[in-house]
Amino acid sequence: MSAAPRIDLHTHSTASDGTLSPAELVRAAAEAGLDVVAITDHDTTAGWASALDALPAGLSLVRGAELSCRWYGEEPALPLHLLAYLFDPDAPELVAELARVRAAREERGERIVALLRADGVDVSWPEILTGAGGGTVGRPHIAQALIRAGLVTTTTEAFGPDWLGERYRLPKEDIDVFRAIRLVRAAGGVPVFAHPRATRRGRIVPDELIADLAAAGLAGLEADHEDHSPAERAHVRALAGELGLLVTGSSDFHGTHKTVRLGAFTTGPEAYERIVAEARGVTEVASG
Ligand code: AMP
Ligand code: FE
Ligand code: FE
Ligand code: ZN
Repeated sequence: MSAAPRIDLHTHSTASDGTLSPAELVRAAAEAGLDVVAITDHDTTAGWASALDALPAGLSLVRGAELSCRWYGEEPALPLHLLAYLFDPDAPELVAELARVRAAREERGERIVALLRADGVDVSWPEILTGAGGGTVGRPHIAQALIRAGLVTTTTEAFGPDWLGERYRLPKEDIDVFRAIRLVRAAGGVPVFAHPRATRRGRIVPDELIADLAAAGLAGLEADHEDHSPAERAHVRALAGELGLLVTGSSDFHGTHKTVRLGAFTTGPEAYERIVAEARGVTEVASG
């Protein structure tokens, strides 16, 4: 490898709310010129095996997930996302939590659909489940149903205040973030806080909580992300420096459910090597 390696540590496949299958995702990552890609579907490891099987020569695969978490230190509790890398996919407590959250997502999705239908919006739960194709169900799948029904034209519009962003936004039963960090570490994995400063997604956690999470075993912060302004990226970087956390940058690619492209943001080799070094070797980085 002559130039600096290109490392993208946050992407989604059809195992959750992305639009490329895990096999298509790793092929697209190689075509985009990446050297390392992480598959981080919401609350599932279901895409790992087919991503691994399809891994193109020269590409390294970091198997991971993005965990739906909540911090209960504020009322109402605040949702946040935790990236988890290289953990044991058979660790029983973690497996149970992921299954519970996936079930909670379905229950919430069904309630959102009921609210929409009560207002005369013609979407159906079976249609949305079909659209999710067996992957972890999320609001992007409901957004697609709103687009098909001709009520909005883009996913962004579907996440606006009149739709899934506020009026039809319901909370789900997520994992307590301290418990999630503990379970990920116990499973040999490395936890990184995804887009911690993304004010455009809603309320954000205070920096004091991030310090507490660092003390509880958090390894890093995702700084370079499209949902962070340049000032927010700089803030996250500075905070990571103060707390001794590593810093990542990633696309959070979702196929056509978002406009961002693979490799739009990347992680430096030092941070990547720290993640690999901190992982306890249960799940290795795979090389194609
Ligand atoms: P959920 O996991 O069901 O709460 O839905 C959140 C997911 O929706 C995120 O993981 C993103 O993939 C997607 N999302 C959130 N906000 C937006 C937005 N403004 N535009 C497009 N996708 C979004
Ligand atoms: Fe998503
Ligand atoms: Fe996220
Ligand atoms: Zn994501």
